[in-house]
Amino acid sequence: MSAKGASALWCELAWLGGERAEEGVLIELDGERVGAVATGVASPPPQATSLAGLTIPGLANAHSHAFQRALRGRTQAGQGDFWTWRRRMYEIAEAIEPDVYFTLARATFAEMVLAGITAVGEFHYLHHGADGARYEDPNVIGRAVIEAAREAGIRITLLDTCYLHGGIGREADGVQLRFSDGSADAWAERVDGLEARAGARVGAAIHSVRAVDPEAAARVAAFATERSWPLHAHVSEQPAENEDCASAYGKTPTGLLAAAGVLSERFTAVHATHLTEADFELLGGGGCGVCLCPTTERDLADGVGPARRLADVNARISLGTDSHALIDIFEEARALELDERLESGVRGGHSAAELLRAATAGGCDSIGWPEAGRIAPQALADLVTVGLDGVRLAGTSTHHAVESVVFAASAADVRDVIVGGRFIVRDGVHLSLDVAAGLDEAIAMLPE
Ligand SMILES: [Zn+2]
Repeated sequence: MSAKGASALWCELAWLGGERAEEGVLIELDGERVGAVATGVASPPPQATSLAGLTIPGLANAHSHAFQRALRGRTQAGQGDFWTWRRRMYEIAEAIEPDVYFTLARATFAEMVLAGITAVGEFHYLHHGADGARYEDPNVIGRAVIEAAREAGIRITLLDTCYLHGGIGREADGVQLRFSDGSADAWAERVDGLEARAGARVGAAIHSVRAVDPEAAARVAAFATERSWPLHAHVSEQPAENEDCASAYGKTPTGLLAAAGVLSERFTAVHATHLTEADFELLGGGGCGVCLCPTTERDLADGVGPARRLADVNARISLGTDSHALIDIFEEARALELDERLESGVRGGHSAAELLRAATAGGCDSIGWPEAGRIAPQALADLVTVGLDGVRLAGTSTHHAVESVVFAASAADVRDVIVGGRFIVRDGVHLSLDVAAGLDEAIAMLPE
């Protein structure tokens, strides 16, 4: 395979967005995009590169904090909750400097690519130095994150995050000073210095109603609207956030953000675990997206996100690996369904195809890459093949291939990853980075 990529790909099986996989799919490439798609092509034409297994659109990780990859396995001992976990997370955030951040983000993004993720929304809030001292370039870490994504071969939207307060009515303190720009105007001024580049876009985020007051949230929303940027916020991850918000403002976090003009079709509520009836109406009626992160929500004992109810009010669902307790979008996708089964006693709330749409087009739409996440003419040629011949998936039938992959595949079954028509991963190997060594190196530089 040349660095320029193939001119056509022939897929043994491909998922084109329907309930079932199609056999013999020929994808003609037009530069970094899909030119034409034909089904029922029994054998590969001579000019085409053959892809075995099931080919799907590149997966989207709509919610990531790259540096939290360093916490994997290190927060599991002893009892605790979200807030005790946060103390451990702050220790890492306190210690990390731009060069280590770059090395860790590059390896974390490369781990994502190995798992079939071709686009990531990086919810980025660690902006400044110790005690909030500005770096010479106040966007040095954001730029490092963008460069890390480029080297890893993944598309990125840097969701530059406004974070001002240490809680409702509390000043930012300690490591939180590294997150805070001091005011929404100062946030906007800094973010104005960031620019998109090939493979990288910029968006905005409001950390949460804990960290951003309503006036500042309105300012961030207006700034994002002027630029047609995606806008994300952590919403109702923990009951304590709802309680604090109710006692300070007499509103739910969703209600507060709605009143501040934050909700729109470009808005994605991240988590949305603990919602009221009115919150469902606001998110659905506003045409908003909701990003669920089930492996993190499990890990942090947050609760089970109400995915079915959200889909029923037409909130657009996407998925994220968030704290990177795991990086496996197949696990996130099936968790939407399986976690709800435990609560409801009912199977089959979400079809496999619905879950795969959340994992692909849903995520790409949420982070501002609407031309990715589908296999169709003019779409970006971001494609992933899942091997069906390993122990987990051997015996998969064409008829049930989508269900088999969504409910049983792991990130380790991803064989090939193509971004913009170019192979980034071939036969399970990242073509330009030693990913495990990169993770080892970066994490070794951080506190145990
Ligand atoms: Zn998060």
